[in-house]
Amino acid sequence: MHDQTSLTVGRARRVLEERIRPAIHSSHRPATVSFHELPSEPIPAHEGLALDYEPFRVGSAWGAAWGTTWFQVRATVPAGWSGKRVELLVDLGFDVSKTGFQCEGLVYRPDGSTIKSLNPRNQWVPVAESAAGGEEVLLFIEAASNPVLLENHPFLPTREGDILTSSREPLYRTRRFDLAVLERDVYELALDLDVLLELQAELPEGTRRAQIHQAMDDSLDELDLQDIAGTAAAARARLVPALSAPASASAHALSAIGHAHIDSAWLWPVRETMRKVARTCSSMLELIDEDPDFIYGMSSAQQYKWLKVQYPEIFARIKTAVANGRFLPLGGMWVESDTVMPSGESLVRQFLYGQGFFRKEFGVSCEGVWLPDSFGYSPALPQLTRRAGFEWFFTQKISWNQVNRFPHHSFSWEGIDGSRVFTHFPPMDTYNGQLSGAEVALAERQFRDARAASGSIAPVGWGDGGGGTTREMTGKAARMADLEGNPTVRWEHPNDFFGRAREEYAQPPVWVGELYLELHRATLTSQHKMKAGNRRSEHLLVEAELWCTTAAQYGDFAYPYDELDALWESVLLHQFHDILPGTSIAWVHREAVTEYERIIAATQLIIERALGSLAGPGDKLISVNPTTVAGIVPAGGGREAQPNRLPAVQVISDDSGIRLLNDLVDIRFSPEGLITSAVDLATGREAIAPGQVANLLQLHQDFPNQWDAWDVDRFYRNRVTDLRGVTSMDATENPDGSATLEIVRPISADSTVRQSIVLEPGSRTLSFHQVTDWHETEKFLKVAFALDIRAEHTIAETQFGHFKRVTHANTSWEAAKFETSMHRFIQVEEPGFGVGLVNDSSYGYDVTRQVDEQANVTTTARLSLLRAPRFPDPEADQGIHEHRYGMVVGADIRQTTAAGISLNAPGRLVPGGNGFDPLVSIDGEGLLLSSVKLAADRSGDVIVRLYESLGRRSSGSLSINARINGWTTASLIEDLLEDAPGGSDTTVPLELKPFEVRTLRFKMSTGA
Ligand SMILES: [Zn+2]
Repeated sequence: MHDQTSLTVGRARRVLEERIRPAIHSSHRPATVSFHELPSEPIPAHEGLALDYEPFRVGSAWGAAWGTTWFQVRATVPAGWSGKRVELLVDLGFDVSKTGFQCEGLVYRPDGSTIKSLNPRNQWVPVAESAAGGEEVLLFIEAASNPVLLENHPFLPTREGDILTSSREPLYRTRRFDLAVLERDVYELALDLDVLLELQAELPEGTRRAQIHQAMDDSLDELDLQDIAGTAAAARARLVPALSAPASASAHALSAIGHAHIDSAWLWPVRETMRKVARTCSSMLELIDEDPDFIYGMSSAQQYKWLKVQYPEIFARIKTAVANGRFLPLGGMWVESDTVMPSGESLVRQFLYGQGFFRKEFGVSCEGVWLPDSFGYSPALPQLTRRAGFEWFFTQKISWNQVNRFPHHSFSWEGIDGSRVFTHFPPMDTYNGQLSGAEVALAERQFRDARAASGSIAPVGWGDGGGGTTREMTGKAARMADLEGNPTVRWEHPNDFFGRAREEYAQPPVWVGELYLELHRATLTSQHKMKAGNRRSEHLLVEAELWCTTAAQYGDFAYPYDELDALWESVLLHQFHDILPGTSIAWVHREAVTEYERIIAATQLIIERALGSLAGPGDKLISVNPTTVAGIVPAGGGREAQPNRLPAVQVISDDSGIRLLNDLVDIRFSPEGLITSAVDLATGREAIAPGQVANLLQLHQDFPNQWDAWDVDRFYRNRVTDLRGVTSMDATENPDGSATLEIVRPISADSTVRQSIVLEPGSRTLSFHQVTDWHETEKFLKVAFALDIRAEHTIAETQFGHFKRVTHANTSWEAAKFETSMHRFIQVEEPGFGVGLVNDSSYGYDVTRQVDEQANVTTTARLSLLRAPRFPDPEADQGIHEHRYGMVVGADIRQTTAAGISLNAPGRLVPGGNGFDPLVSIDGEGLLLSSVKLAADRSGDVIVRLYESLGRRSSGSLSINARINGWTTASLIEDLLEDAPGGSDTTVPLELKPFEVRTLRFKMSTGA
C-alpha cells in the first residue's frame, strides 16, 4: 500500500484549523458594549458595576499600561436559539501566542457574583446551558490592561514595569463581543482530532499509527465541509475505535492535577496578583462545576487570604469545593517562597502560617510541600519539612539546570541532619502543562525511575494570568484516560500519587545535600535592598518575640499577637520566589523597600515597648543581649551596662600603611587600604595569602545571555577591575577603646564606596560597614579575601546549621557551582586554622583556589555585594546600599557561628532601672536557641526552639525561669508530637543529633 501519512496528517491539520475550530461556535451576534476606563487604580466590584458607562465600539483600542477598564455587555438571545448552549465570546485583543502575561478580564453578573475569567486561550463565558429565546443578557467585565514585558526579545530594558514610568497609550484593541451557539459535536470532534493528531506524531511507525491515520481519513470523509455542525457527529463516530483502544499494561501513569502557577508578584505588582488569583479561581470553580472528574490544586495560603478578604464570594465557593475534595489546598506554606535565603525561623513560619491558615479555614492539613518554581532548594529542607509534619516534597525547577541532568525523578532527599523526604520532579518538565501529545510522551520517555515506579505528576493549566486549566485540557484528559500508545491520565490528588509512589518505590535512590539550581545564581545578590530588608526583618521579629515573651512572663505585658502575625505575614510574602530573589519589576521592588522600612520600624517599636517593660523605669543604661551567644550579658537577658575594661586597640601608622592591633589579632593595611597581613596572635599564624590581599573590592562586567536579574554566567569572571584607588584613608582611636579605619574609594566616575573598618578590644572580628553609592550598569561587585589556607571545602551556613562544598571543580556538577549560597557566614579552614567571613545582608559567595610551583595552596573567598541588571527593572540596585560584614581571624566554626549571629542580632542599650534574667537559658556545646515565642494558638504556652549548630551530637540542658505546668516536645508548627519526650521540671535535659532542630512547648502555671 502507498504511504499516505503526510497526506492524511496534512489533511487533518488543515481541516481542523480552517474548518472545524471556526465552526465550534455558530450564529455569532455582536453584543452591545459600553465601557468606563478608570483614571487610576482598580476599584471594588460593587463600585465598578455602578459606574456610568459610555458606548464602546468593538474594534477600538483600550487600556493604558496597568489600567482597568470596565465593560458592560448587553445582548438578547435570539428566539431561534431556545434549548441551545449559548456563550459570550470576548476577545479583548489577546495575543494567543502567549498563555498569560497580558490583558485579562473577570466577568461579573449584575449582582456582583463572578462567572469566570477571560484569558488569551480562554475567551468564552457561559450564558445559558439551555437558552430561552428572547432572554436578556447583562454582564460586566473588569478588564486589566497589563503590559507584556517578556517580548520576543525578552530581556531588553523596559520602563513599562512601573505605573510611575509606563506609557499612557492604549495597549490593546478589542476584536469581538459576540453571543454565539456552542456546537457541542464540533467542539468534541476538534478535541478528538487534536488528541489523535498529537498522539500519532509521537508514535513509531506501526499498526497503531496506521490505524489512527485510517480512522482520521474515514472521519474526514464523513465531514461535509459546508455543514460541519451537521456532520460532526458522524465524523466522530468513525474515530471511536481509535479513541477507545485501551492503553498498554505498562503505560506510564500520569497523575494530573489542575494548576495555575501564579507568581505572587513578578512582572506585575502584588495588587495585580490578587486579581489574577481571583480571575483564575473563578474559572476553576466554573470548570469544577462543568467536569465531574476535574480537580484543581492551589498553593499559597496568602493567595487564599487575599480572596477571603477581597473576594468573599469566590472564597465561599472555594470552601465548598475544598470540602467536596475538588479544590485542593497545596503545599502548606504561606507563599511559594525562596528556600535558599530565608532563615530557619522564616521557613518554619512559612509552614506555621500556611498550614495554620489551611487548617483554620478549611479543616485541611497539607501532606506535602509544593514548590515547582523556586530557585534551588536548601539542604535544611528535608528536616524542616519532616519536622513540620510533611510527608512529601514536589518541585520541577531542577530540570532547568544549564549543564547537569538530575539523575532521578522520584527519590529520597536527605538533608544536613539525615532526615529524608520523598521527592518527585515531574518528567513532563513543566508546571504549566496542557496535556499535549508531546508533553505526555516526554513524561514517559524521560522518566528516570521507570524500572520501579509507574507514574509521575502532571500539573495542568496556564499560570500567571493564563486562567488555569481549560476545558480543552480536561477534554484531552478524558480521552487520555485509557488510550493505546499514550500514558494513562487521571485527575488525582498529589497525596494519592505520593502514597502510591512511596509504596511501589520502597527503596528509592537517595540524593544527599542541596538541590542546587544550575541557573539563576545571581538571585542571591540582585536587588540588594530585598536581601537587607529580609535579613533585618526576620532577625528583628525573632528578637521582638523573645522580649515580648519574656516581658509577658515577668510582668503583665500584653503579647502583641495580631501585630506580630501581620508583620510575619508580610515578611513571608516578600520571601516569594520573585521578590526576595530580586527578579520582579521596578514597581514590586519599590513597594517592597517601603514595606521593609515599615516592618523594621514597627518591629523596633514592639521591641522598645517590651524592653521598656522589662528594664522598668529609670535612667540607667541597660545592656541587653538578644542572641543565643553568651557574652558579658547572658543571652536573652539584660544587665546594667559596664564600661569596657579591656586594653584599647592600638593604631600604628607609618609609610608601610596602618596597623590595627589588639590582644588577639594584628591587622596590617597597605597605603591602598588593602589588608596585607592578619595574624592570629595566639598562634602567630598569618591568615592572608603571601603576596595577596584581603578587602579587595572587585568589579566585574556582568551581562548574562538571558534572564538579567536572575543569571550570572560563568564568563563574568574573565573581565575584572580591582578597585585599588583611594580617595581618603583615616584611622581613629575611639573613646570606647575600638579603632576605626575610614576608607573612601572611587568605583567609577559615577560610583563611590566608603568603608568604616572597626576592630574592637577583645575581638578577633574585623568589622566592615560599607556604604556604596552605586550607579553602575551591568556590573557585579565583590569583596575578595585571599587567605593562606589550604581549604578542601568551604562551610556555608544554611537554616539551622551549615554544610560543605568542595573548593575544586573536578566534575561538571562542581564546576557549575561557581556562585553559591550562604546565610550569615562562611568558614574557610584547614585542620587547626580557619577564617570566618560573616555578613548582614549578602547571600552569595564564590571561592577559588590558587597553587604555586612549590605546591602552596591558598584559597580566595569573595562575598557578592551588588549587581546592576537592567531587566526586568531597568534601574535595579541604583542608589545607596549598606553592607556589614566581617573577617573573623583564627576562628573555628563555633566562633564564626557566634560572630555571624552577633552581627545580625546585636545587643542593645536601653534606658531603664534594672537588668533581668533570661527567661530561657541553654547549656551545652553547640546548642543554640533559635526562638522563644508564645504559641500561635494563643493558649499562652511558651514555644522554645533550639538546634545543634556544629554538626555533632550534643547534650546539655535548657532551663526556663518561670513556673510551668509541664513541657512537651512539639513539631515545628507547634503540634504535640506523640511518643516524644515531655516532663514537668523547669530544666529540660537535652540530647540532640547533628543539626537537629527541636521545639519544646511549655504549659505555663496560671494563678498563684
Ligand atoms: Zn514562579
